[in-house]
Amino acid sequence: MTTPFYGSDYDALEQFDPDIAGVLLSELDRLRGGLQLIASENLSSPAVLTALGSTLSNKYAEGYPGRRYYGGCSEVDKAETIAIDRCKALFEADHANVQPHSGASANQAVYGAFMKPGETILSMSLPHGGHLTHGTKMSFSGKWFNAVNYGVDKETEDIDYDEVEALAKEHQPKVILAGGSAIPRLIDFERFRKIADEVGAIFWVDAAHFIGLVAGKAIPSPVPYADVVSFTTHKVLRGPRSGALVCKEEHAKALDRAVFPMMQGGPQMHTIAAKAVNFKECATPEYATYAKQVIANAQQLATSLGEKGIRPTTGGTDTHLSLHDLQGINVTGADAELRADAAGIVLNKNAIPFDPQKPNIASGIRVGSPSVTTQGMGVEEMKQIADLIHKAITEGDGDPDHAVAKEVRAQVTDLVGRFPAYPRG
Ligand SMILES: *Cc1c(COP(=O)(O)O)cnc(C)c1O
Repeated sequence: MTTPFYGSDYDALEQFDPDIAGVLLSELDRLRGGLQLIASENLSSPAVLTALGSTLSNKYAEGYPGRRYYGGCSEVDKAETIAIDRCKALFEADHANVQPHSGASANQAVYGAFMKPGETILSMSLPHGGHLTHGTKMSFSGKWFNAVNYGVDKETEDIDYDEVEALAKEHQPKVILAGGSAIPRLIDFERFRKIADEVGAIFWVDAAHFIGLVAGKAIPSPVPYADVVSFTTHKVLRGPRSGALVCKEEHAKALDRAVFPMMQGGPQMHTIAAKAVNFKECATPEYATYAKQVIANAQQLATSLGEKGIRPTTGGTDTHLSLHDLQGINVTGADAELRADAAGIVLNKNAIPFDPQKPNIASGIRVGSPSVTTQGMGVEEMKQIADLIHKAITEGDGDPDHAVAKEVRAQVTDLVGRFPAYPRG
């Protein structure tokens, strides 16, 4: 194989730095050897990884295409222009900014564009499915801004839109934010837009988790409704670890200025090139098929776990993830995470709405289908995975040498052998 640039020279790395070369290989083995059910993770393509490992990483390009603060930007300008054009086309958006380094950085820019310190944002509470950057006290967002939170309804466990409306009228927020990290259901963007209009607020959607499903046209898009949409590019979307923003034309200048120079310095041009590759991938019929299968798989996994007494909150899912209440089987989220891990199944503990446990223990788990769907698994495999999860977390004890852990791990090995991540040759 010819090597078009130095980034792909693994052999040279191995010779110079066997310590780090070894980590690259053993991480690949770890990915290949287990079931990856973390809802916010995926397996990006070799094409995306190739762009990420390129010499574009060297280039300083503060500013935007055609308006840089450095010379020598002719080539990276092409990459960023392509990324912007593809992003706008993919999401049918007026304007795109592809420079945010991550989801949190994209969110920082939204605050920078629309809010002054001390102003009020209305967002979903973290324990009900929101995100750290939505105004929690540990984050810049809660230290510098006044966050008022809505939550989910106790019966439906879905967003309580009447509460959103009442809080909006009471607190007159500058910005209303929809989206989060543990929301299994579709969000009613039209209702949010109406509420925002009633109180004259900016409507922001943080689509970090589900934007890939929008890209694949598997669920409705927030873009026609929201003033601004922030997202990550590494979750269902399956691109490089990064972030991006789209917005209405009227906000374009403010948003661009908020990304640079307000919040960030030089953009990561290798990552921007990888985002361009990813946006091209997302526009293919194969990706649309993938996005639909992600949802079908998540729904099957939620149903099958439910049949085993591992109750999905809200009764199921419309997206790529489900949240499960373990109280019915008397296991904590922390124990479930440990026991699954010992059996080769990677998932995370998660607070459920109205959780009686502390967040570091939690009563739930969150599972997602993006990675296993990338590996080619379908609904039949989801039924088997549900059985394996149930066995591992009800009969295991967290010790990888426990007989149950070994038995489940053998079946996991067989399953991922039939549906390999990053197949060899
Ligand atoms: C993942 C996520 C983020 C943060 O993305 P990072 O790339 O980890 O900074 C922000 N908002 C939501 C809703 C997320 O799920």
